[in-house]
Amino acid sequence: MDPDGSVLTVVEQGPDQTVLPISLECLSAGRKLADGLGCRLHALIMGHGVGDAARDLGHYGPDRVYAADHPLLEAYHPELYCAALVQAYEEARPRAILMGDTLTSLDLAPRVAFALNAGLITDCVGFELGEGEVRFLKPVYSSNVMAAYALATEPWLVTLRSRAEDPAAKREEASGEVVPLDVKLDRSALTIEVLRRVVEEEEGPRLAGANIIVSGGRGIGGPEGFRRLAELAKALNAAVGASRPPVDLGWASPKAQVGQTGEKVAPSVYIAVGISGATQHLAGMIGSRTIVAINKDPNANIFRVADYGVVGDHEEVIPAFRKALATLRK
Ligand code: FAD
Repeated sequence: MDPDGSVLTVVEQGPDQTVLPISLECLSAGRKLADGLGCRLHALIMGHGVGDAARDLGHYGPDRVYAADHPLLEAYHPELYCAALVQAYEEARPRAILMGDTLTSLDLAPRVAFALNAGLITDCVGFELGEGEVRFLKPVYSSNVMAAYALATEPWLVTLRSRAEDPAAKREEASGEVVPLDVKLDRSALTIEVLRRVVEEEEGPRLAGANIIVSGGRGIGGPEGFRRLAELAKALNAAVGASRPPVDLGWASPKAQVGQTGEKVAPSVYIAVGISGATQHLAGMIGSRTIVAINKDPNANIFRVADYGVVGDHEEVIPAFRKALATLRK
């Protein structure tokens, strides 16, 4: 047990076993929080065969890396991962547990909060250290208001929005020792049976963590318009996003939806094509560094938040843009 308490960052791996960028962002945020509280930063990795990943994590700034390595943790299972995380908590006794705001942690974090009788704040973008308390910041009301929450119970469970922090940089020297965790997991006690895992084929960069996003709205007109958008995205090494209507209409994958009920993204460049700029859409992309809007309606709300705007039909603007891009590249 760590006498000072600590900040524990839960690290997540993608399907190819690489650590997700958001987990490195959590390590950055965790370091700031730990320094502010005057305590140590620990990381936790769960899975099977995670030894190399755990040793590598030691180069990203934590003082200790807990490795919960168990055959039953090979793939995510809500109850098994919850049990492993609770056992890691009992071993490390952190004051705060920090996770990326991913689909997995949105399933896992509430289970852990329930198991530990702890408060949980999801989708945080930062924190403020006050007199003896920490206030976690979270955009609410479609990002029109920034709310500050203090948790009355410990540990504080927090999920962090993608790109709210820069990722921790890799250092030559490992700062953190690896501590294996002997987690006890019992398959017979499970109430949830995973029948099938479906891994969706992904083309191009993922939405979360993408540096550039090209997003289409109802104004794109149909699946053919989205195919053209995908070509532009490929040329820019960008991810493809969408507002809700194209997802509802089946033109774009539900995973592409940006907004209040979709992904919250904050890329360096967000190109909104044929998107009016409803508050529910803005809620998911208002944190983008540079917003470019292409819309044929000069009064579209999206122009209020755009850094650059083109008033015109996307069928003319996109080909002209691609041509200009090709010329610039030559
Ligand atoms: P529209 O509002 O129909 O806008 C289409 C735009 O395309 C217009 O501005 C038009 O001028 C332009 N256009 C048309 N033709 C062209 C052309 N040829 N070239 C260029 N521009 C053109 N929405 C989300 O996006 N994400 C969410 O997560 C989300 N969650 C929601 C949650 C709730 C509870 C509710 C009630 C709504 C939610 N919505 C969400 C829906 C939201 O309110 C809007 O209806 C939606 O964002 C509008 O999408 P849009 O801008 O693509 O379509």
